[in-house]
Amino acid sequence: MPKLLCTCGYIHNLSPIPDDGYIVIKDQTYESLIEYEINLSQLQSSRKTEYTDQDLLISRINELQERLYKCPDCNEIQWIKKDGTIERYKCI
Ligand SMILES: [Zn+2]
Repeated sequence: MPKLLCTCGYIHNLSPIPDDGYIVIKDQTYESLIEYEINLSQLQSSRKTEYTDQDLLISRINELQERLYKCPDCNEIQWIKKDGTIERYKCI
């Protein structure tokens, strides 16, 4: 069960889909995201659906996304980058 620990000790539960975080897309890659979403939608609605093609598009979509989680106890924001690193910001 994936979890994310805040510096205050709060534990974000990342198991539910969707979870209570935010999806972040870099503005420069937004058009690619839309293109992948359209292609995925077209693949899913066609009768010749190849799951490997869908998996590839889903993988590309996921690679564009980063995640934000705001701690409800201390307001710290944790930004999970594409490479898996986490940056932490305190909200005042
Ligand atoms: Zn916290």
